[in-house]
Amino acid sequence: MGQETWENDGARSRTRWLGEAASAARHHGSKGNREMDFWEHLGAVIFDMDGVLFIGNRLRAGVIELVDRLNALGIDFHILTNTGSSSSTEIAAKLDGMGLKVEARRITTSSALTAGYVAEHTGAKRAWTLGGGTGLSQALEARGIEALPLERMSMEEARTSAASIGAPIPLVVGWTRDYDHQLATRVLRLERAISEMYVASEDRAYPGDDGLMPGVLWLSASVAALIQKRPINPAKPNRYALEYVLRALNQPAARVALIGDSISDIESGNQAGCRTVLVLGGATPRTQVVKLSGEAVPLQVIEELTDLL
Ligand SMILES: [Mg+2]
Repeated sequence: MGQETWENDGARSRTRWLGEAASAARHHGSKGNREMDFWEHLGAVIFDMDGVLFIGNRLRAGVIELVDRLNALGIDFHILTNTGSSSSTEIAAKLDGMGLKVEARRITTSSALTAGYVAEHTGAKRAWTLGGGTGLSQALEARGIEALPLERMSMEEARTSAASIGAPIPLVVGWTRDYDHQLATRVLRLERAISEMYVASEDRAYPGDDGLMPGVLWLSASVAALIQKRPINPAKPNRYALEYVLRALNQPAARVALIGDSISDIESGNQAGCRTVLVLGGATPRTQVVKLSGEAVPLQVIEELTDLL
Protein backbone atom coordinates (compact mmCIF):
# COMPACT_ATOMS: atom_id res chain seq x y z
CA MET A 1 0.00 0.00 0.00
CA GLY A 2 2.54 2.53 -0.69
CA GLN A 3 5.19 3.11 -3.20
CA GLU A 4 4.25 0.38 -5.62
CA THR A 5 0.73 1.58 -6.28
CA TRP A 6 1.23 5.17 -7.30
CA GLU A 7 2.32 6.62 -10.60
CA ASN A 8 3.55 10.02 -11.63
CA ASP A 9 2.82 11.41 -15.06
CA GLY A 10 5.50 14.11 -14.77
CA ALA A 11 8.30 11.73 -13.86
CA ARG A 12 6.70 8.43 -14.71
CA SER A 13 9.71 6.31 -15.40
CA ARG A 14 11.54 7.40 -12.27
CA THR A 15 8.69 7.08 -9.84
CA ARG A 16 7.49 3.76 -11.23
CA TRP A 17 10.97 2.35 -11.06
CA LEU A 18 11.41 3.58 -7.53
CA GLY A 19 8.06 2.15 -6.57
CA GLU A 20 8.99 -1.25 -7.97
CA ALA A 21 12.42 -1.15 -6.33
CA ALA A 22 10.90 -0.24 -2.97
CA SER A 23 8.34 -2.98 -3.30
CA ALA A 24 11.00 -5.52 -4.17
CA ALA A 25 13.19 -4.46 -1.25
CA ARG A 26 10.31 -4.75 1.17
CA HIS A 27 9.01 -8.05 -0.04
CA HIS A 28 12.27 -9.84 -0.73
CA GLY A 29 14.56 -8.34 1.89
CA SER A 30 18.23 -8.74 1.08
CA LYS A 31 17.48 -10.80 -2.02
CA GLY A 32 15.47 -8.02 -3.65
CA ASN A 33 16.54 -4.82 -5.32
CA ARG A 34 18.00 -3.01 -2.35
CA GLU A 35 18.51 0.34 -4.08
CA MET A 36 15.67 1.64 -1.99
CA ASP A 37 16.46 0.01 1.35
CA PHE A 38 16.01 2.86 3.79
CA TRP A 39 18.54 1.43 6.25
CA GLU A 40 21.39 0.66 3.87
CA HIS A 41 24.47 2.84 4.52
CA LEU A 42 22.24 5.12 6.54
CA GLY A 43 24.35 7.67 8.42
CA ALA A 44 21.66 9.90 9.88
CA VAL A 45 18.00 10.89 9.59
CA ILE A 46 16.51 14.36 9.45
CA PHE A 47 12.85 14.52 10.41
CA ASP A 48 10.45 17.29 9.62
CA MET A 49 8.23 17.61 12.69
CA ASP A 50 4.64 18.75 12.06
CA GLY A 51 2.82 16.15 10.01
CA VAL A 52 5.69 13.64 10.29
CA LEU A 53 6.21 13.04 14.02
CA PHE A 54 2.73 14.20 14.99
CA ILE A 55 -0.48 15.63 13.63
CA GLY A 56 -2.20 18.01 16.03
CA ASN A 57 -1.40 16.56 19.45
CA ARG A 58 -1.21 12.93 18.36
CA LEU A 59 2.05 11.10 17.56
CA ARG A 60 1.97 9.34 14.21
CA ALA A 61 2.13 5.57 14.05
CA GLY A 62 5.64 4.12 14.25
CA VAL A 63 7.42 7.28 15.49
CA ILE A 64 8.51 5.86 18.83
CA GLU A 65 9.55 2.53 17.29
CA LEU A 66 11.56 4.29 14.56
CA VAL A 67 13.38 6.54 17.02
CA ASP A 68 14.05 3.52 19.30
CA ARG A 69 15.54 1.66 16.35
CA LEU A 70 17.75 4.59 15.37
CA ASN A 71 18.97 4.85 18.96
CA ALA A 72 19.58 1.09 19.15
CA LEU A 73 21.60 1.16 15.92
CA GLY A 74 23.51 4.28 16.97
CA ILE A 75 22.22 6.22 13.96
CA ASP A 76 22.11 9.95 14.61
CA PHE A 77 18.94 11.89 13.93
CA HIS A 78 17.79 15.48 14.00
CA ILE A 79 14.47 17.30 13.84
CA LEU A 80 14.34 20.30 11.49
CA THR A 81 11.08 22.14 11.86
CA ASN A 82 9.56 25.20 10.25
CA THR A 83 7.88 25.78 13.61
CA GLY A 84 9.65 28.73 15.14
CA SER A 85 7.39 30.13 17.83
CA SER A 86 8.56 27.60 20.43
CA SER A 87 12.17 27.05 21.52
CA SER A 88 13.84 23.66 21.06
CA THR A 89 13.53 23.08 24.83
CA GLU A 90 9.78 23.78 24.72
CA ILE A 91 9.41 21.46 21.72
CA ALA A 92 11.35 18.67 23.50
CA ALA A 93 8.96 19.04 26.47
CA LYS A 94 5.94 18.89 24.16
CA LEU A 95 7.26 15.73 22.47
CA ASP A 96 7.97 14.21 25.89
CA GLY A 97 4.34 14.93 26.85
CA MET A 98 3.26 12.91 23.82
CA GLY A 99 5.56 10.04 24.79
CA LEU A 100 8.58 10.75 22.56
CA LYS A 101 11.92 11.47 24.21
CA VAL A 102 14.24 13.68 22.13
CA GLU A 103 16.98 15.93 23.51
CA ALA A 104 16.60 19.64 22.71
CA ARG A 105 20.03 19.64 21.03
CA ARG A 106 18.57 17.42 18.31
CA ILE A 107 15.92 20.01 17.40
CA THR A 108 16.51 22.97 15.07
CA THR A 109 13.63 25.43 14.74
CA SER A 110 13.17 27.85 11.87
CA SER A 111 13.75 30.64 14.40
CA ALA A 112 17.20 29.23 15.23
CA LEU A 113 17.96 28.98 11.50
CA THR A 114 16.75 32.51 10.82
CA ALA A 115 18.69 33.95 13.74
CA GLY A 116 21.80 32.11 12.50
CA TYR A 117 21.31 33.44 8.99
CA VAL A 118 20.76 37.06 10.11
CA ALA A 119 23.83 36.88 12.39
CA GLU A 120 26.05 35.35 9.67
CA HIS A 121 24.84 37.60 6.84
CA THR A 122 24.22 41.00 8.44
CA GLY A 123 26.13 41.24 11.71
CA ALA A 124 23.10 43.14 13.09
CA LYS A 125 22.97 43.73 16.84
CA ARG A 126 19.23 44.55 16.89
CA ALA A 127 16.26 43.40 14.84
CA TRP A 128 12.56 44.29 14.73
CA THR A 129 10.43 41.20 15.20
CA LEU A 130 6.82 40.47 14.40
CA GLY A 131 5.40 37.20 15.74
CA GLY A 132 7.71 34.28 16.40
CA GLY A 133 7.08 34.28 20.16
CA THR A 134 9.76 33.42 22.69
CA GLY A 135 11.25 30.92 20.24
CA LEU A 136 12.33 33.76 17.93
CA SER A 137 13.42 36.24 20.59
CA GLN A 138 15.50 33.59 22.39
CA ALA A 139 17.07 32.40 19.14
CA LEU A 140 18.06 35.97 18.23
CA GLU A 141 19.44 36.60 21.71
CA ALA A 142 21.48 33.38 21.49
CA ARG A 143 23.14 34.96 18.43
CA GLY A 144 23.75 38.28 20.21
CA ILE A 145 20.87 40.09 18.49
CA GLU A 146 18.45 42.13 20.62
CA ALA A 147 14.82 41.54 19.55
CA LEU A 148 12.53 44.59 19.35
CA PRO A 149 9.02 43.06 19.14
CA LEU A 150 6.65 45.36 17.25
CA GLU A 151 3.57 43.81 18.84
CA ARG A 152 4.80 44.87 22.27
CA MET A 153 5.65 48.52 21.52
CA SER A 154 3.46 51.49 20.68
CA MET A 155 3.96 53.43 17.46
CA GLU A 156 5.64 56.16 19.50
CA GLU A 157 8.04 53.69 21.16
CA ALA A 158 8.87 52.17 17.79
CA ARG A 159 9.58 55.63 16.30
CA THR A 160 11.79 56.54 19.28
CA SER A 161 13.72 53.24 18.95
CA ALA A 162 14.19 53.78 15.21
CA ALA A 163 15.47 57.33 15.79
CA SER A 164 17.91 56.22 18.50
CA ILE A 165 19.27 53.34 16.39
CA GLY A 166 19.76 55.57 13.35
CA ALA A 167 20.43 53.17 10.46
CA PRO A 168 17.67 50.74 9.33
CA ILE A 169 17.76 47.29 10.97
CA PRO A 170 16.41 43.89 9.85
CA LEU A 171 12.80 42.83 10.46
CA VAL A 172 12.25 39.14 11.29
CA VAL A 173 8.71 37.78 10.90
CA GLY A 174 7.53 34.57 12.57
CA TRP A 175 4.24 32.85 13.22
CA THR A 176 1.52 34.59 15.22
CA ARG A 177 -2.24 34.59 15.50
CA ASP A 178 -2.24 38.26 16.45
CA TYR A 179 -1.48 40.14 13.24
CA ASP A 180 -4.16 42.75 12.65
CA HIS A 181 -4.81 46.15 11.06
CA GLN A 182 -3.15 48.02 13.91
CA LEU A 183 0.09 46.04 13.59
CA ALA A 184 -0.02 46.36 9.81
CA THR A 185 -0.21 50.14 10.25
CA ARG A 186 2.85 50.07 12.53
CA VAL A 187 4.80 48.03 9.97
CA LEU A 188 3.80 50.37 7.13
CA ARG A 189 4.92 53.48 9.01
CA LEU A 190 8.27 51.89 9.94
CA GLU A 191 9.16 51.05 6.33
CA ARG A 192 12.25 53.27 6.27
CA ALA A 193 13.55 51.85 9.56
CA ILE A 194 13.72 48.34 8.06
CA SER A 195 16.83 47.22 6.13
CA GLU A 196 15.81 43.70 5.01
CA MET A 197 12.90 41.42 5.78
CA TYR A 198 13.49 37.85 6.99
CA VAL A 199 10.81 35.24 7.54
CA ALA A 200 11.13 32.18 9.75
CA SER A 201 8.99 30.17 7.32
CA GLU A 202 7.01 30.57 4.12
CA ASP A 203 4.71 27.67 4.86
CA ARG A 204 1.24 28.28 3.52
CA ALA A 205 -0.41 25.87 5.94
CA TYR A 206 0.23 23.28 8.59
CA PRO A 207 -1.94 20.36 9.72
CA GLY A 208 -4.03 21.05 12.84
CA ASP A 209 -6.32 18.81 14.86
CA ASP A 210 -9.36 19.50 12.69
CA GLY A 211 -7.75 20.37 9.35
CA LEU A 212 -5.23 22.76 7.79
CA MET A 213 -4.28 25.98 9.61
CA PRO A 214 -2.69 29.09 8.02
CA GLY A 215 1.13 29.09 8.31
CA VAL A 216 3.41 32.15 8.34
CA LEU A 217 2.75 32.98 4.67
CA TRP A 218 -0.54 34.82 5.21
CA LEU A 219 1.28 37.25 7.49
CA SER A 220 4.63 37.52 5.69
CA ALA A 221 2.96 38.17 2.33
CA SER A 222 1.07 41.10 3.83
CA VAL A 223 4.17 42.55 5.52
CA ALA A 224 6.27 42.18 2.36
CA ALA A 225 3.64 44.00 0.33
CA LEU A 226 3.41 46.80 2.90
CA ILE A 227 7.16 47.49 3.10
CA GLN A 228 7.87 46.57 -0.54
CA LYS A 229 10.65 44.12 0.24
CA ARG A 230 11.24 40.59 -0.91
CA PRO A 231 11.39 38.38 2.20
CA ILE A 232 14.50 36.25 2.77
CA ASN A 233 13.57 32.83 4.12
CA PRO A 234 16.47 30.76 5.50
CA ALA A 235 14.13 27.86 6.46
CA LYS A 236 13.26 24.95 4.19
CA PRO A 237 13.36 24.91 1.17
CA ASN A 238 16.36 27.32 1.39
CA ARG A 239 19.63 25.40 1.05
CA TYR A 240 20.86 27.08 4.21
CA ALA A 241 18.45 25.00 6.34
CA LEU A 242 19.75 21.59 5.32
CA GLU A 243 23.36 22.76 5.21
CA TYR A 244 22.97 24.02 8.77
CA VAL A 245 21.72 20.64 10.01
CA LEU A 246 24.13 18.58 7.86
CA ARG A 247 26.98 20.56 9.44
CA ALA A 248 25.67 19.56 12.87
CA LEU A 249 25.25 15.89 11.86
CA ASN A 250 28.69 15.79 10.21
CA GLN A 251 27.50 13.23 7.64
CA PRO A 252 27.65 13.35 3.84
CA ALA A 253 24.22 14.23 2.45
CA ALA A 254 24.05 10.99 0.44
CA ARG A 255 23.97 9.00 3.69
CA VAL A 256 21.29 11.17 5.25
CA ALA A 257 17.57 10.42 4.83
CA LEU A 258 15.17 13.32 5.08
CA ILE A 259 11.61 12.40 6.05
CA GLY A 260 9.05 15.11 5.36
CA ASP A 261 5.35 15.55 4.70
CA SER A 262 5.48 18.69 2.55
CA ILE A 263 6.88 19.41 -0.88
CA SER A 264 9.27 22.03 0.51
CA ASP A 265 10.84 19.28 2.67
CA ILE A 266 11.39 17.10 -0.38
CA GLU A 267 12.76 19.92 -2.58
CA SER A 268 15.06 20.94 0.20
CA GLY A 269 16.33 17.39 0.74
CA ASN A 270 16.78 16.66 -2.97
CA GLN A 271 18.71 19.91 -3.53
CA ALA A 272 21.04 19.03 -0.65
CA GLY A 273 21.59 15.51 -2.04
CA CYS A 274 19.78 13.68 0.77
CA ARG A 275 17.61 10.59 0.30
CA THR A 276 14.08 11.92 0.48
CA VAL A 277 11.06 10.15 1.93
CA LEU A 278 7.59 11.69 1.63
CA VAL A 279 5.14 10.53 4.28
CA LEU A 280 1.54 10.99 3.23
CA GLY A 281 -1.35 12.04 5.45
CA GLY A 282 0.20 15.33 6.64
CA ALA A 283 0.55 18.36 4.35
CA THR A 284 0.54 16.38 1.11
CA PRO A 285 -2.40 14.24 0.01
CA ARG A 286 -1.84 11.29 -2.31
CA THR A 287 -3.69 13.13 -5.08
CA GLN A 288 -0.93 15.78 -5.14
CA VAL A 289 1.87 13.24 -5.54
CA VAL A 290 0.98 12.58 -9.17
CA LYS A 291 1.55 16.27 -10.01
CA LEU A 292 5.13 16.41 -8.69
CA SER A 293 8.10 16.92 -10.98
CA GLY A 294 11.82 17.71 -10.84
CA GLU A 295 13.26 18.38 -7.37
CA ALA A 296 9.84 17.87 -5.82
CA VAL A 297 9.84 14.15 -6.60
CA PRO A 298 10.71 12.12 -3.50
CA LEU A 299 12.89 9.03 -3.64
CA GLN A 300 10.33 7.11 -1.63
CA VAL A 301 6.67 7.64 -0.69
CA ILE A 302 5.20 5.99 2.39
CA GLU A 303 1.80 5.99 4.05
CA GLU A 304 3.14 5.73 7.60
CA LEU A 305 6.53 5.57 9.32
CA THR A 306 5.73 1.94 10.14
CA ASP A 307 6.47 1.25 6.44
CA LEU A 308 10.16 1.88 7.24
CA LEU A 309 10.32 -0.59 10.15
MG1 LIG B 1 5.59 19.17 8.02
